[in-house]
Amino acid sequence: MRITFLGTGTSQGVPIINCDCPVCTSGNPKNKRMRCSVMIETSCANILIDTSIDMYQQFIAWPFKRIDAILYTHAHADHIFGLDELRRFNYLQKEVIPVYGNAETMNRIRHVFDYALNDGPFVSGIPNITTNTVNTEFIVNDIKIIPIPLMHGRDQIFGYRIGDLAYCTDVSFIPEQSYPFLQDLDVLVLGALREKKHSRHFNLDEAVAEMNKIKAKQTFFTHISHKLDHEKHGSQLPPSCSFAYDGLSIEI
Ligand SMILES: [Zn+2]
Ligand SMILES: [Zn+2]
Ligand SMILES: [Zn+2]
Repeated sequence: MRITFLGTGTSQGVPIINCDCPVCTSGNPKNKRMRCSVMIETSCANILIDTSIDMYQQFIAWPFKRIDAILYTHAHADHIFGLDELRRFNYLQKEVIPVYGNAETMNRIRHVFDYALNDGPFVSGIPNITTNTVNTEFIVNDIKIIPIPLMHGRDQIFGYRIGDLAYCTDVSFIPEQSYPFLQDLDVLVLGALREKKHSRHFNLDEAVAEMNKIKAKQTFFTHISHKLDHEKHGSQLPPSCSFAYDGLSIEI
């Protein structure tokens, strides 16, 4: 199994439009962060988590050949607005692509992308998706996927566990009953926005505290704002964690 980070930035991306701070003007490519999404390649499926608003740029940069399924964490604009790019994959695959998420997320997708729904035969010119509401573990092409309930401010959203990998972005609180899904991980991906506290996201201290509680072999932080510099802040992190960056790819 392999995870590739297609985007690691917070909702505005990094650089932010019209910001001349040191991170936004940095020459380090690891300080350029598109909106959050990852591709997970297994032996029998390419599973995309979220269709970031930067999905076009991401698939030009990293041209994965197919998408077998999409797991949605939640329906904020930065995580869903690339959905229209699925037209290209529908055309290449001649298939409807199934998408999964909680009831709230599937309702939002059906509302925002009402033209994309297709429970019947394939139609060209529109993204062809089927929406699937999930609450507990489910199977995609023989791969077991476990939704992990997380709190994002007052909203309940999903992280996902696939094998010994867990992806948990946009989280400000992990409910007690979700910790059993986070045991014995090789890789944990966790949102860490900035140093200052935020009502809807872990800050860096909170993310490090969760990392120490969960004890994955390796932890990567994502959904990073322009207030964190890859080198400056990254060099101060404890040994088993680091900032993810766009294009980072890890074999698990
Ligand atoms: Zn987000
Ligand atoms: Zn900035
Ligand atoms: Zn969000």
